[in-house]
Amino acid sequence: MKIITTIPEIKENISQHKKMNNTIAFVPTMGYLHEGHISLIRHAKDVADIVIVSIFVNPTQFAPNEDFTTYPRDIDRDCRLAEQAGCDYLFIPEATEIYPKGFDTEIKIGGVTKSFEGISRPTHFSGVATVVAKLLNIVQADKAIFGQKDYQQTLVIKKLVADLNMNTEIVVIPTMREPDGLAMSSRNIYLLPGIREKAGIIFKSLETTRSSIELGEKNRKIINAILHQNLRTVPEIKIDYACAVDADTLEETDQFQAGQRVVLLVAVFLGKTRLIDNAVITIPK
Ligand code: AMP
Repeated sequence: MKIITTIPEIKENISQHKKMNNTIAFVPTMGYLHEGHISLIRHAKDVADIVIVSIFVNPTQFAPNEDFTTYPRDIDRDCRLAEQAGCDYLFIPEATEIYPKGFDTEIKIGGVTKSFEGISRPTHFSGVATVVAKLLNIVQADKAIFGQKDYQQTLVIKKLVADLNMNTEIVVIPTMREPDGLAMSSRNIYLLPGIREKAGIIFKSLETTRSSIELGEKNRKIINAILHQNLRTVPEIKIDYACAVDADTLEETDQFQAGQRVVLLVAVFLGKTRLIDNAVITIPK
């Protein structure tokens, strides 16, 4: 595995592979790799000749009150894990490489960025869209692999790629979970003992709500109430949002229709840690 820190060097390596007609799969990350990231890298290895992983804690997607400076980092461990999972090129640029002096462009996407994470973190998605556009332009991959864990982000990125006619296909991989169902996340290390044990309620609540839908519940308000009621069985949980919405548009239809794909979107605070998760469910016929 080759470790690369500059844009010209990664571009040069990519152009060599393009000349040899090698296909490229790209996995963008912020590092502190866990099994969720590893499943993305393994998938990349299955679908392309060459796998490129980036590690970049993107400052522009963090608000000033968020955890940019304390975001967990362990580059040596990440290098080992990425290589074991099948990464060929690990791209680890400095912030000044991605945002050199004078950088002055921002990508703003409408619709799907306006609700949920977009309300709680108003500057987040423009930071994500801008850095992902840059990375996709640099890497020119055939496929880029993202996790369903960040469900709204996958819609934002699909919209970015469609609206800007980018050539990379966006592939979404299911969420990897801890044995109690907690979605793996680099931020899970923030969960203190005593609090960590309570976090399984998020997945449990999603699954209980899924069962109600699969048993025939189609009313959004009732579905939301079931989800909230389950989450509230852990008093330490503060719900930011927990809602059933259309899985493609994120619209809050009052009554879902048979065959419609719905996503349950959840963001909660457990102690000081903000956790997100989701479940996609098709309304039964
Ligand atoms: P991050 O490093 O948190 O920015 O995540 C990098 C990529 O890994 C994103 O596409 C995430 O959606 C994905 N990812 C994060 N957690 C998981 C997980 N538990 N399972 C699968 N993919 C994940």
